[in-house]
Amino acid sequence: MDCSGLYDLIIIGGGPGGLTAGIYAMRAALKTVLVEMGAPGGQVNLSDAVENWPGDEHIGGAELSLKMLNHARSYGMEIRSDEVTVIEPGLDGHTVRLAGGDCLKAHSVILATGGSPRKLEVPGEKEFYGRGVSYCAVCDGFFFRNKAVAVVGGGDSAIEEALYLAKLAREVIVVHRRDQLRAGALLQQRAKAECRIRFAWNSVVTAIQADANGVNAVALRNTVTGDSSALPVDGLFIFIGFVPNNRLVPAGIRRNADGYVITDEKCATTIPGLYVIGDLREKYARQIVLSAADGCTAALAAAHYVETRKAALECALPAAK
Ligand code: NAP
Repeated sequence: MDCSGLYDLIIIGGGPGGLTAGIYAMRAALKTVLVEMGAPGGQVNLSDAVENWPGDEHIGGAELSLKMLNHARSYGMEIRSDEVTVIEPGLDGHTVRLAGGDCLKAHSVILATGGSPRKLEVPGEKEFYGRGVSYCAVCDGFFFRNKAVAVVGGGDSAIEEALYLAKLAREVIVVHRRDQLRAGALLQQRAKAECRIRFAWNSVVTAIQADANGVNAVALRNTVTGDSSALPVDGLFIFIGFVPNNRLVPAGIRRNADGYVITDEKCATTIPGLYVIGDLREKYARQIVLSAADGCTAALAAAHYVETRKAALECALPAAK
């Protein structure tokens, strides 16, 4: 099927990276469309509070997303709500096919599909998802008021979410596979000072148990002694990192061993005009501000690429008689 129209830029993914790319692309007068299959904002929407976005000491994740979305919209950026099924790179432009049946074509594409929560892969995780197993404290914490919950993980996400849950739950037990947290010092201090939070150190969850009312316990194994025990809880929140959403990355583009895409400093891949930004890209740290920075970089690089390409295409046209 031929695609109608030709965009300068298609952005896939509406998180902070994609929306920032949109703002810069519109300001550079690129004909741009952003495709997002869920609510614009991505993972940030799931954050109760963001405290490291410069200029906002404390802002709700959903509020920050909305501000970014409205900023991009203020330049008239087109937004399509659809799922991208495939990107087909081509010399005459890149084709992006949508689940709804449409197809889009552009000189350049920015892929900003981020990551998804890593799964524990233990018995009960899939079966009891939504019945006590959750990957989002802001979404589901309300159901655990005055109840006991376990949080798995020792990174920033786990500790931030444990702090959020401590405002609602009776008790929050952070289950971590080592005896030291990975989370930043400030979050660690806050969590250790919070009387409703306690830690199950050197422990991993090996199974999740439930009855007709939902989760009622998790089985733990001590990573040092090998001992097994049962921890009675009403819910289990899992924050053990992310896996990159790399399904749409065309073949031939380099990825590291964890599946993150390797780009150059312009966020460019080995396919001309195709950029990868944000949490999908191999990088030192994953922060909202870094995704936004990637969005800026890639949009500026795309603008230069599109301008050069259009000039080259124009010169290649046969002269008018
Ligand atoms: P993360 O930093 O990769 O931490 C994952 C945690 O889960 C680690 O403590 C890890 O243990 C543990 N873990 C991994 N696989 C496990 C398994 N199979 N079983 C048990 N435990 C497991 O992930 P994250 O906390 O989601 O953060 C992702 C990125 O976003 C990081 O760069 C983080 O700094 C950033 N972030 C920043 C903020 C903020 O600045 N406010 C908030 C959220 C996230 P080990 O420690 O033993 O490896």
